[in-house]
Amino acid sequence: MKTMNYQEELIKINVLNQRLIQAHPSKDKIFIEYRKKRTGVIGERKVAYRLQFLDPTKFIVLHDLRFVDHNGFFQIDKLILCTKCIFVVEVKNWYGTVIFGENGQVTRIGDNEKEEGLPNPVAQAELQKLRLHGKFPWLNFPIITLSCISFPSTIIKSASSHYTIPKEITHANHLPFSIKETAESLPVVLENFNDLKKVARKLLTMHKPKKENVMEKFNVSLSDLIKGVFCSNCGAVPMKRKNRKWCCLKCSHTAADAHLLALNDYQLLIGDVISNKEAREFLQVKSPYIVKNILEKNFESIGKNKGRRYLLTKKLKNKE
Ligand SMILES: [Zn+2]
Repeated sequence: MKTMNYQEELIKINVLNQRLIQAHPSKDKIFIEYRKKRTGVIGERKVAYRLQFLDPTKFIVLHDLRFVDHNGFFQIDKLILCTKCIFVVEVKNWYGTVIFGENGQVTRIGDNEKEEGLPNPVAQAELQKLRLHGKFPWLNFPIITLSCISFPSTIIKSASSHYTIPKEITHANHLPFSIKETAESLPVVLENFNDLKKVARKLLTMHKPKKENVMEKFNVSLSDLIKGVFCSNCGAVPMKRKNRKWCCLKCSHTAADAHLLALNDYQLLIGDVISNKEAREFLQVKSPYIVKNILEKNFESIGKNKGRRYLLTKKLKNKE
């Protein structure tokens, strides 16, 4: 059961970075965000890979769940269900050395020896547990919280012998073992695994995926974007449409359907619906007939004549 949208956020921000003019004031911020998201995706993958080692006939793993309660949205990085309990796992993509100290204080020392205070992941997971109980009072399972450090090279330490590292903290490598061990020590709550699947499905119907508008987030308007079809060979823009093909003016590479990638960029950044005029501007093609041809061959449409809009999410099959 998949809900992952980390990957999608990374793709969106990458497209924005590629299409945004160099002089835009948000350019640096976007690149920093891209790097952060990329680290996040790598970390998420490491954790997801480890969780594959859990027996799928006993455990159901749900990724990146997002629910809304009276305090707003809350996200659960990994929710693992079994017939005995539910695990709420807070994933941390932390590098360097992480030190647990007095009163739950967490400090990280990165590559540059700089100290940085961090939110306590145990407290974060506990808060999610509380909100999960509040949101789903029918969820009749004990909820166990865990905090997982995704990168195996991260060193976890305690500030002194007076403080112990919280037992909820685990490296991704150990996560499946911690889960198995804990589950084995508990009594069965739900006899039938199929009933557990129903619980998972019920939770998924309440999942509110994050639809991030990266243009809004970074104050980018359509006029700040580089228009046109990018050459997949050399990266030059725009390619020219000639004889039913796209042709790169720089390296002479040709491609028949390079517009699909550009229209995919449009969908990720602007929206799911496009008119002929908007497509002409975005693809940098003057002829409404060529654009009509491209759009009609590839996408379903609504409306007629000037009001016709093409649905970029509804791709037609077996066409150009
Ligand atoms: Zn080229």
